[in-house]
Amino acid sequence: MEALYLHAAFDARVSPFNLREGAEGEALLKVAAVGLCGSDLHYYKDGGIGGAIIRKPFVPGHEFAGWLEQDVPSLGLAKGALVAVDPNKACGTCAHCHAGFHNLCPNVEFIGAPPFDGAMTQKIWVPEDQIVPLPQTLTPLQAVMLEPLGVAIHAVDLAKPRLLERVSLLGCGPIGLLILQVLKAAGAGEILAVDPQAHRREMALKLGATQVASSIEELRSFTKGEGTPLVVEATNSPDGFREAVLAARIGGRLTLVGIPDGDTYTLPAAEARRRGLKIKFSRRMGNVYPSAIDLVTSGTVDVDTIVSHSFLLAETPDAFRKHAENAPGFIKSLIYPNGLSATA
Ligand SMILES: [Zn+2]
Ligand SMILES: [Zn+2]
Repeated sequence: MEALYLHAAFDARVSPFNLREGAEGEALLKVAAVGLCGSDLHYYKDGGIGGAIIRKPFVPGHEFAGWLEQDVPSLGLAKGALVAVDPNKACGTCAHCHAGFHNLCPNVEFIGAPPFDGAMTQKIWVPEDQIVPLPQTLTPLQAVMLEPLGVAIHAVDLAKPRLLERVSLLGCGPIGLLILQVLKAAGAGEILAVDPQAHRREMALKLGATQVASSIEELRSFTKGEGTPLVVEATNSPDGFREAVLAARIGGRLTLVGIPDGDTYTLPAAEARRRGLKIKFSRRMGNVYPSAIDLVTSGTVDVDTIVSHSFLLAETPDAFRKHAENAPGFIKSLIYPNGLSATA
């Protein structure tokens, strides 16, 4: 068996992988597909995210789906069923978990965040209670996209768009494009989107953005410099916070979702202070898998169009490189560790 290991910044290698023994309460999955997430890319580009640093080679991959290698009677699932996995294992006992903030648990074990190996390999043991049973009409691609869609749902839950409210959306990467669709499902009005990459702006228009801009100045011109009452930021830029402030109307609300390159924001204070903004930070997600499944199966959210590229495990270092250099045409890549036409 093989896996993709991140050794350090800009050092991704495919090498032999020894599958560990399973523990009580775990089930073995044959990995069907894995998403390459913006956070995986931060580990690749920066060697870590804040205090989560690559100290020894680790296997990324927290957005994944696979086929059960065994029956799981506790979930009523049989061998061969396609399932998704919630990568977040909160402790369940701290004050934050008790308050319902499992996504903010400081004792979290997150599959695919160092030091916990993820799913960019052929088989993986996962705790049964993190398995998400799926309607068997879902494809592996759709099953993988439930995790990033969950991040988008959580962000929109926090942003709370009002009916027909005009929203500025910063960043039209995979998360931004999912947020765009969830905002519309949640009743938001015109969505003004900005992204420096032309193919991402095109995709935003296709998925329902009202107007798209290539710079924050152009975005501001859509409202004659006045800004919008709600702004959702989903960029990877240190300027994301600053630009979200500039996109906001006086008294507006911001929700910040993106992780900035270098783990630092550039934010002059006055623009934010003088607007009297209300600012929220969104991290991971709550219990949103049921909504994510409904949004995909009902066709309310199109996840298929967002996936621009597919790779085999051996090609994964190339996929990381392409994303790190913002290669034209790339939006979301999925890795198929057992081949593109694998089945249970
Ligand atoms: Zn992710
Ligand atoms: Zn906890």
